[in-house]
Amino acid sequence: MVNLILFGPPGSGKGTQAKMLVEKYNFFHISTGDMFRYEMKNDTPLGKKAKEYIAAGNLVPDSLTIAMLKKQVVANQDVYGFIFDGFPRTTPQADALDILMNSLGNSVNKLIALDVNDQEIIDRLQGRAKIEGRADDANVETVKNRIEVYKQNTTPVFDYYENFDKSVKVDGIGSLDEVFERICNEL
Ligand code: ADP
Repeated sequence: MVNLILFGPPGSGKGTQAKMLVEKYNFFHISTGDMFRYEMKNDTPLGKKAKEYIAAGNLVPDSLTIAMLKKQVVANQDVYGFIFDGFPRTTPQADALDILMNSLGNSVNKLIALDVNDQEIIDRLQGRAKIEGRADDANVETVKNRIEVYKQNTTPVFDYYENFDKSVKVDGIGSLDEVFERICNEL
């Protein structure tokens, strides 16, 4: 198995690039953001719990997120490898992921971080709000909070994997194909 974390701030293009990687390499794509949106759309108990955190641009508590992620990994063992998109977002989540992968005889092979500046994020998310209609994209204050949460809680995950020589940065500015090529060069 080849297991990849696609990392970066909100709006850095993780989801789009993950889909392109799935087409080329047959990865199984796990997006915790997509999973939460599915739970909220179906008004499940988990969706109800996650809703307020997401609306405010805060992280859903680790316990809920890790349990949801585990279920999805365990249920899909017969795959080429996983792309983790939007997970791990905290160091306890990274610890939990490593323990889980090890227990399944696997590991995280690489973290690829898409490098995009704050103003570009704000511009992109305002554009996406018009297309996808996500409330957490439409409100600029919520977007700024998400960027802040990313810097405070999520960037340590880059360092966590850098300690194992697994983290690389890729320039996230450019056309979809240009960014895709940069990612593929790292694989
Ligand atoms: P983006 O990368 O554009 O911020 P996502 O779809 O990955 O969007 O996430 C949307 C929201 O879902 C996040 O702002 C957060 O509230 C919640 N979420 C997603 N993944 C996680 C996670 N791993 N841990 C905690 N909360 C998460």
